[in-house]
Amino acid sequence: MSEQNNTRPAALVTGGGRGIGRAICLALAKAGFDVCVNYASSAAAAEQTALDCQAFGVQAVTLQADVTDPVQCQNLVEAAAKTFGRLDVLVNNAGVTADKLILRMQEADFDKVLNANLKGAFFCCKTACKLMMRQRYGRIINLSSVVGLHGNAGQSNYAASKAGLIGLTKSLAKEFAARGVTVNAVAPGFIETDMTAAMSETAREAALSAVPAGRIGRAEEVAQAVAFLASAEAAYITGQVLCVDGGMGM
Ligand code: NAP
Repeated sequence: MSEQNNTRPAALVTGGGRGIGRAICLALAKAGFDVCVNYASSAAAAEQTALDCQAFGVQAVTLQADVTDPVQCQNLVEAAAKTFGRLDVLVNNAGVTADKLILRMQEADFDKVLNANLKGAFFCCKTACKLMMRQRYGRIINLSSVVGLHGNAGQSNYAASKAGLIGLTKSLAKEFAARGVTVNAVAPGFIETDMTAAMSETAREAALSAVPAGRIGRAEEVAQAVAFLASAEAAYITGQVLCVDGGMGM
C-alpha cells in the first residue's frame, strides 16, 4: 500500500493475527486506529483480522515479519510508519512458550523464548522510539505476564522474558517520558487462547484454582486494557504494569 496521509492515529500490533493480538487489533480499530497486523506464519489469520478491523471503518493491512530478526523488526516498524504516514502506537504482543523444568531445559529453549518475547520487543522499540521521539508522541505497550512478576515452575525461560519486558518498559518510560512517549506493560493472567489451550488439564486446573475471579480471562478483556493505555487520554501513565488477571497476582 502506498503512503497515506489521513488524520486517524495508527497502530502496529506484533503477532496480531490471532489470540490476544487479534483482540487488540480489533479493540484499536473500534477505537478509531488504522491498524498494521503483524504475523510470522499465520497469514490467513492475519488477513481475517485485518478484514475484521476494516469493518470498523478504518484501514488495516498485514505485514509479515519474524520479530526474532533485528532487520525484520526495523523493516516492520518502518513499513508500518510508511503505510499510514505515522505510527502512534506499538504493541509488542508476539510471544512464545517452551515450558520445561530447568533440569530438562536446554539453552535452545531459553534462547527461543528470550529471542521472541524480549529481544523482539527490544528491536521493535528501538526503531519505534526513534520515530515517536521525532513525532513527540507515542504509546508503547508491552505484553508481559503475571508470571513475569511472580515466577512459575516450568516456565523459567518465559518468566525471565516477561520480567525482562518489565525492566525494558520502565527504562524506556524514563528515557522518553519528557518527549510525549509513554511506555507501559500489560500483564495478563490466565487467558483463553491457543497458548493456554496447549496446557495439560492438570496445569489448567492448577492455574484456574489460583484465580480469585474463578474463571479464565478473555482476550478481549486484555485488549480493553491495552486500548486504554494506547489512548491519548492515558498521557500521564507511564512505566506501569497493569495486571489483567482476575486477581491472580494479588
Ligand atoms: P498465542 O495465541 O500463542 O499467539 C501468539 C502470537 O505471537 C501469534 O500471533 C504469533 O504469530 C505471534 N508470534 C510468535 N512468534 C512470533 C515471531 N517470531 N514473530 C512474530 N510473531 C510471532 O498467544 P496469546 O495467548 O495470544 O499471547 C499473546 C501475548 O500475551 C504473548 O506475549 C503472551 O506471552 C502473552 N500472555 C498470554 C497469556 C495467556 O494466558 N494466553 C498470559 C500472559 C501473557 P504467528 O501465528 O503468525 O506465528
